[in-house]
Parts: sequence; structure tokens; C-alpha cells
Amino acid sequence: VRVCRVLPDIPAIDRAFDYLVTPDSAGIDIGTIVRVPLHGRRVRGWVVGVDAVPETTPERLRPITAVVSAGPPPAVVELCQWAAWRWAGPMVLFLRGASPPNVVAPGAGSDVDGAVYPPVAAPMTLPDDRTRLVTWPPARSRVDLVRSLVASEGSTLLLVPDAREAERLADALRADGRDTVLTRGATSGADRTRAWEAARHGARVVVGGRSAVLAPVPDLRAVIVLDEADEALEEERAPAWHARELARERARRAGASFDLVTPAPTIDAMEIAPARARPDRAIERTGWPVVEVVDLRVEPPGTGLLSTRLGPALHAGFADGGRAVCVLNRRGRARLLACRACGELARCDRCAAALAEVDDGLACPRCATRGPARCEHCGGTRLHARRLGVTRARDGVAGLVPRATVVAVDRATAEVPSEVDVLVGTEAVLHRVGHGGRPVRLVAFLDLDQELLAARYRAAEQALWLLVRAARLVGSRGTGGRLLLQTRLPDHEVIAAARDADPLAVATVDAPRRRALGFPPFGGLAELTGNPAAVADASAKLREATTVLGPSDGRALVRGPTVSALCDVLASVDLTESRALGRLRVDVDPTRV
Ligand SMILES: [Zn+2]
Ligand SMILES: [Zn+2]
Repeated sequence: VRVCRVLPDIPAIDRAFDYLVTPDSAGIDIGTIVRVPLHGRRVRGWVVGVDAVPETTPERLRPITAVVSAGPPPAVVELCQWAAWRWAGPMVLFLRGASPPNVVAPGAGSDVDGAVYPPVAAPMTLPDDRTRLVTWPPARSRVDLVRSLVASEGSTLLLVPDAREAERLADALRADGRDTVLTRGATSGADRTRAWEAARHGARVVVGGRSAVLAPVPDLRAVIVLDEADEALEEERAPAWHARELARERARRAGASFDLVTPAPTIDAMEIAPARARPDRAIERTGWPVVEVVDLRVEPPGTGLLSTRLGPALHAGFADGGRAVCVLNRRGRARLLACRACGELARCDRCAAALAEVDDGLACPRCATRGPARCEHCGGTRLHARRLGVTRARDGVAGLVPRATVVAVDRATAEVPSEVDVLVGTEAVLHRVGHGGRPVRLVAFLDLDQELLAARYRAAEQALWLLVRAARLVGSRGTGGRLLLQTRLPDHEVIAAARDADPLAVATVDAPRRRALGFPPFGGLAELTGNPAAVADASAKLREATTVLGPSDGRALVRGPTVSALCDVLASVDLTESRALGRLRVDVDPTRV
């Protein structure tokens, strides 16, 4: 008798059971989608083991009901198992993402195509390493660079967070004669099934968002991830997996090359790829817009965020048929404290986040350091909070450019008008403004400090990523692109990075801080949220194995000395009882903590 192990498609069960292989199901392999009896029902599931040694006597086992569809290849099934460990979630959710939405006849078409293409010269010097970090400026085309990184034989996975750029790159590779498969989450099940089937034949370049990392190519030679700092590469729902990490693991298992291409590498990327490549300084400099820094500490009293430079810069932005955009982020109740005497902001001397007022002085919301309510720079004791909302900012901006049309944009704005001179909004405006209509020539960040000093441990790289988005919108200095950064921290590493077109400067300054505090990638961190009783119960159970901070306000942070040590703890502690109390979300490597 042959026995196979099947994982039913029920996330809450998350364990595999043994079934008998019948003559009708003799063709199954690891990954095949089958139907099996379970607790009196017939359920879909994936074969995760063939010729298994049964846990019970074969006489007690029930046969597979039917073979349903082809599924992910064994290597991808193993990758899903790793992902379930890495992000502390049910393996079933990864297998769903790796499977065709519609039925694909099992067995048929599993022969592998072959093709060899001539290598393409890179527009810059690249080291020979298998894992590389390539820094490429934001406002310069990456088509030639990507062409040179695609494997000349076998398959390549190309992960592109921006759907429009994914399409452009797929078109360019197709024009080169490459067999290219574009995968998109938003298309129909039939389209996605066709793409899945094509990828299964190999000798393809699979281009897509984060889900492309699970494409069933049998002959992987190269994995390329663009813009690894883009939050679109992270799944929002639990398990909140990150395509950069999953792509790296897939490349490692397949012995494929792994390239990260980005204008602004995160510390994670720098840890993954010690081999770095940058283009010539001239290419790098001209691939960024002009960056003008406005020091708010020396503005005349009473100007607030409406600096003397803002009006003229906006004018230059919308003159000659262009548009200007003002970004003003306001998150939560955070207020930045500035010294009335010298204008400096109150910052934590341990981790550099903005300090907040508490009863007996100042406290750091990121690392909990406390101190007296006193300015570190001049000893002044009068600190004041500054705050201005988007609506009032719009009115203020409109006052600076009296004859211009100025419109506030928020998440509720149905359609962003293209025939206006100035748009004012939170960072969402950078996504909303689009690439049609009048060109955006200026993006002004009215209060960048809010971003630079946010309590989130990834604040610096997230702030730099905002500048990258803005840079892509306005274009390079050669085409007149311009950023205006208003700040009380003109020497901050994020500002220096954009101004000097030297993006590695941010990680260089930030990495030692993050290492000292044990934040990822230097230590394991997971966030527990959901039902307060469930979070409290899970915190108590995990506290026996590792460090848990909280819970407070229905949220707890789980720490481990390394990422893998934390994942081992999360895999070994059974949280079934906690989940029975209510919804529990476990977020490994949370990006917004
Ligand atoms: Zn001061
Ligand atoms: Zn701190």
C-alpha cells in the first residue's frame, strides 16, 4: 500500500493527515491538489509527503477521494513550509498563493522548456557575487540594468512593487524576445491560471508583485527584487510575509543569483547583501532631483511651516503648466517639541526619536528613555508643541500663492484634479497624483521632521523612501525636478542622503543604533494584536520562552536574540488556547512598530 500525507485547506487545523493512494491517484506528487475525507466532510488539500510512513495502521486509513489539480512544485511546497515558520502562520495560506486559482490538469505539460539568450552588458560595473545590492538612483530608467541581471538561461523571477513599472519592464523584455509572464493579483482567475501554467514550463521571466516569488518555475537561475523598501512587498494580512526575505530564501535554495535593486537600501538589504554596487557618481547625482533644504530654526518668528522660500518655490513649480505638491503627514497624536529659545527639537540621545511630554519631563516612545523637560542644546526649559492640520495648511499655502488654485487632497478625495496648480495632502497624495495631467515639478515636505523622528524603529528608512517616491514624481534635476524639505534638522542623515544623492548614508548612521537596541534585522521582533484577552494569554505563554513587552492597549511585543530564535519560539509555543479566546494576529518583523 502507498500512503501520502495531505494538508487540508483549513488554516485553523494547520496539520497534515495520512491517506491511502489509490490506483486513480497514483500520479500524485508533492504539491498536487487532492480531495480527501476529513471529519465527515470532503475537503481540498495539498499532498505534502509521498510514500510516507503512516502514523497508524494502513487498515485505519481512508483513501484519497479524487485528484483535483496540479499544484506547486515540491521546491515551492518546501519554501511554503519555511515561510510558515518564518512568519508564524499557517502553511495553507502560502500554498494557496502558490497554487493556480483554477484547475490545471495534473501531469500534463510538465516538460521543461530550454532556451539560451546572449548576455546583456550592464550599464555599470557589477561584482561577481551571487547576492548583490545594486543602488540605482530614483529618477533614472532601470530597464537596461534589469536586462543585464536577467539570467541568460533558465528562469528569472522579477519582483516589481509598482504595477505600472512591472508592465513596462515586461514589455521591454518581451521586445527583447524573452518569454515573459506578467502576473498580477488583480486579473481574473483564468488569466492568473494561464500565467501559472506558462511559468511551469520554465525558461521564462516571471514579472509581478510579491506573489510572483511563488511562481512554479522549475529552473530558477536568477531572482531580482526592485525597491525592497516599498511596503507593497509586504503582505498586509497575517501572516504578513515580506517578499524580499522569501525571494532571498528561494534563491538560496535554488542556488540562483539574487539581486536587490533600489535607490534607497534598507538596513535589511545591506545585511543580506554585503556585495554592493553603485553607478558612477555622475549617473547617481543626475538621477536625483535638486534638493533644497529650508531650515525652520532660522525662519522669522510666526512663519510656522509657511517659510519664506515656500511661496517662490511653489510658483516655480506650477509656472509653465506644471504642478506643485505639498506633503504634510499627521499621524496619531504625536507632537514634536521645539525649544522656544533656540528652535531645536527635543530628541532622544539614545535612539534619536522625538521625545514626548510626560508628567515629570520627557520620554522616548521608541526606547523608553526618560529625562527632564530641558533643551539639550541650550538648556532652555520652555518647549512648545507645533501642529498644523492639512486643511489649515491648504489655507496658509493658498495665501502664499494668491492667484493659484490650491486643493487639499485626502483619502476621501474621489478624484485628484489634474488642472490645479497646487495639491496639499498627506503622503497619500504622492500615490494619488498619478502620472497623467500636468507634470509635477515640485514636491514640498512642509514638516519632514514628523517623519524623520517618528517613534517607529524604521522611521529613517521610511522617510527616505518618501523622498524616493517624491523624486520619481518630479523626475531628475535634468528635467527640472525639485524637492523642498522643511526641517529643523538640516543635517539629518535622511536629508543629507537625498541632497548628496548618497542613500547608503542613512543605513550607515542608523544601523549601529538599531543593532544596539536589538531591532530587526539584528534581533527578532514580533507584534501581537487583536482581542485583548487573546493577546494577554499569548503573551503569558510566550513569556515562558522569551522576552515579551506588554501587553498594553491590547498589543504586545515579542523579542528574540535573533530572527530565527524568535521564529523557533513562535513555532514551539502552542497558541491554540489563546486563539480560542478571540482574534490574535502575530506579525513577525512588523514594519510600522
Ligand atoms: Zn534650546
Ligand atoms: Zn529613544
